[in-house]
Amino acid sequence: MHQAVFYSKGNDDTVICELCPHQCTVKHGSYGTCGARINQNGKLMADSYGKITALHSDPIEKKPLYHFSPGSKILSVGSYGCNLKCTFCQNYHISQPDYHTRLPYKHYDPQEIVDMAIDVENNTGIAFTYNEPIISFEFVRDTARLAKEKGLKNVMVSNGFINPEPLDQLLEVIDAFNVDLKAFDDDFYKNITRSSLQPVLKTLQTIAAGNTHLEITYLVIPGLNDDRKQFREMIKWIAGELGKYIPLHISRYFPQHNLKTDPTPTETIFEFYETAKKHLAYVFPGNIHTYGGISDTHCPGCSITAIERGGYSAGIKNLTPDGKCSKCNFQIIKHLKSWN
Ligand code: SF4
Repeated sequence: MHQAVFYSKGNDDTVICELCPHQCTVKHGSYGTCGARINQNGKLMADSYGKITALHSDPIEKKPLYHFSPGSKILSVGSYGCNLKCTFCQNYHISQPDYHTRLPYKHYDPQEIVDMAIDVENNTGIAFTYNEPIISFEFVRDTARLAKEKGLKNVMVSNGFINPEPLDQLLEVIDAFNVDLKAFDDDFYKNITRSSLQPVLKTLQTIAAGNTHLEITYLVIPGLNDDRKQFREMIKWIAGELGKYIPLHISRYFPQHNLKTDPTPTETIFEFYETAKKHLAYVFPGNIHTYGGISDTHCPGCSITAIERGGYSAGIKNLTPDGKCSKCNFQIIKHLKSWN
């Protein structure tokens, strides 16, 4: 088992994990909140290192990432555990301990994952996804470093609940993030996810201020995070703090795990889409059948269709090989794999 990084000694035989804002004090023989990091004889160990529960080649649109390597595949890997406890978790069988402790996994080392990624046709790189990759920090870092050496790109699909120093280290090797912003309301984060909002906002600001590509997903849950005023405030915050060109995916919720609320009405998704479009250039409905080209990317400069989408497929229509609009030269995409 690999020793974890980002921890300090506590009292007696406890250790304090400093990877995420929970700052768990972990007793000998116990796991932190995430279920992936264990105190063994006064050392914090990365128990989930290389334990892979899910491994698939997916369209990158499925992450979802719409403005990073559109139309390419990405080898997607997941382990187990999560530092959040969302009652509506869509992947609870691998994220929550009541389920994942009975889950089969296969062991891979970073080199094996990279070798597999190289072999996949039209593959952009590796996505760390399915469960929360932050809590597999050491495995993600080691695999992403090797992948980078081979010219692959690295992607993380994350809740963004991480401390600043480990985030800075990840930003050295991760090329694109999709971060779930689950609500613009600290009470929601506290009561529904057992975490807090501010660290996630800080993560978003840090990523947006650097060179790493960022997209955001917002899952709309009826009665929990569909307050119109709060949603408008969130959109204004994204536009003001992160920039109006951050792609936003507004996703339809379906009942999962411990939450039995009815699915989001489709009208709500389209209403939120219209609200967000007033302030953001790239807004996409998710988990829903769309029409009239609203899942396409339109150039903010001249409105021409730059990328056409249907389901998880994407066709590049009017982009130059360096990602600019072929009509008005507006820079739309920074990384295009499908042209290489
Ligand atoms: S990564 Fe896990 S063990 Fe570490 S502070 Fe977060 S929840 Fe606790």
